[in-house]
Amino acid sequence: MSTLLKIEFTIPEDAADAAGVFIAAKVPHGWEETPAGDNRKITLYLEDHPLAMEMVSEFEARFPEGGVTWSEQESEDWAVAWKDFFNPVNCGETFRIYPPWLEDGEENGTTHIVIEPKMAFGTGHHPTTSLCLATIGRLAGSGAIREGQEFLDLGTGSGILGIGLSKLGLTGLGLDIDPQAVVCAAENLEANGVADSMTLAVGSIDCVEPGRTFDLVVANILSGPLIEMAGEIVARVKPGGSLVLSGILADKQSNAVAEAYGRRGLGEPQRFVEGEWICLVWEHLES
Ligand code: SAH
Repeated sequence: MSTLLKIEFTIPEDAADAAGVFIAAKVPHGWEETPAGDNRKITLYLEDHPLAMEMVSEFEARFPEGGVTWSEQESEDWAVAWKDFFNPVNCGETFRIYPPWLEDGEENGTTHIVIEPKMAFGTGHHPTTSLCLATIGRLAGSGAIREGQEFLDLGTGSGILGIGLSKLGLTGLGLDIDPQAVVCAAENLEANGVADSMTLAVGSIDCVEPGRTFDLVVANILSGPLIEMAGEIVARVKPGGSLVLSGILADKQSNAVAEAYGRRGLGEPQRFVEGEWICLVWEHLES
């Protein structure tokens, strides 16, 4: 395994939420937030990779009032930190996510997804991933999605949502604008034995072949791009299909996203909240 970096951001409380949103969009897994006087300290671990340093520079440019320090972890320390951060985690009632070194193969009523924590978002530790997987489990339970159907996983990151869907017997397409994410997703597909169920490509919604539609579209991105792509995303859902959107802040952003999709003819979504995040779900679209 390569070196792990411990990165600590310090940010005044009044900018801490914005910093949290910034980090949530970049960091593949959990992080720790602790109060430090008038500041909040955000601690996270990342593989020593150019993208990690890119994120640090971007943080410094966006939050000049904040501070950042990083250090390479001693092998013993980081082995501990790594394990602490990547415990198996349940995502809804259907899925349980494991790092490869903890997967025990005993499925006991849950479907396991193995994710190697790398520089791609989606280890199951973020509420938006968990909300999406819980929704997928529920849709499968109610028969809204079924074996043999097709999905689009837009913003696939580590591939986690598409892997979950593939394990339920669907097939589909995973897209991400970040080439590094697509490399990680390909490795995770192999590790989960679903490389034949899901195709991966670098790109966004405009890369889908003309006229192709899906029984389920999941997009866990951020509210801005979800609003921008509303028309194109809705056009990719089959009549009678379902749409799951997340990466949206519950208080500040969910109405704007719901309205953008309302303008494309969709009704009110179901809303599922975890912490400050929300997942919007439309079932059986009549488009
Ligand atoms: N689906 C995973 C990862 C979500 S993170 C999960 O649920 O955990 C969001 C991912 O979307 C990132 O990997 C990011 O690179 C990608 N992304 C951001 N904007 C995008 C866009 N316009 N089209 C496709 N992918 C996008």
